[in-house]
Amino acid sequence: MARYRDAVCRLCRRERTKLYLKGDRCYTDKCSVVRKGYPPGEHGQARQKFSEYGQQLREKQKAKRIYGILERQFRRYFKEADRRKGVTGEILLQLLESRIDNVVYRLGFARSRAEARQLVNHGHFQVNGRKVDIPSYLTRPGDNVAVREKSRNLSVFKEIREAGGGHGIVDWLEADLEQVQGRVIRMPQREEIDVPLEEHLIVELYSR
Ligand code: SF4
Repeated sequence: MARYRDAVCRLCRRERTKLYLKGDRCYTDKCSVVRKGYPPGEHGQARQKFSEYGQQLREKQKAKRIYGILERQFRRYFKEADRRKGVTGEILLQLLESRIDNVVYRLGFARSRAEARQLVNHGHFQVNGRKVDIPSYLTRPGDNVAVREKSRNLSVFKEIREAGGGHGIVDWLEADLEQVQGRVIRMPQREEIDVPLEEHLIVELYSR
């Protein structure tokens, strides 16, 4: 599947906020947003004023970048959120959060969503005892997410265990770091999703 392969720090600088795409580095002074808090490119330091449409567009881009999703798939999530009963923006975020790559990151078994995505892609995880290697797989409450037996002693998981887990750990998941397994207790409430997004702008954009 296609994905963004350029320097990811540029994405944060474009959005003028930390999107936490690189793991440990994001929590240090080496973060590009800390060092150069203006958009990349020749006119990056010029004053920028967005129209209403521009603001909505930036919000959607930000969401796609945080979760590492391209346009077509993102639009599919929106359609599904729009189809379901409830607040569309909140359901959209719940769908994004329930992706297995995000759940692995939130359980603390990877240092970034990109790393989680790669670990899932390489077949290191299982859901309810069955191997899952598709990062967009949507988990549900009650699902058990675990590192497969044969992958448990890989150096990446040893490092994460020694570091006491990754950065994303949340209350709606239950994690056992020693066994590198966890459970989805429930879907997160909006206030539990700590992403810098105004999702109503995304809904407005797609409702134009
Ligand atoms: Fe974004 Fe992390 Fe790079 Fe900082 S270090 S700009 S938060 S990806």
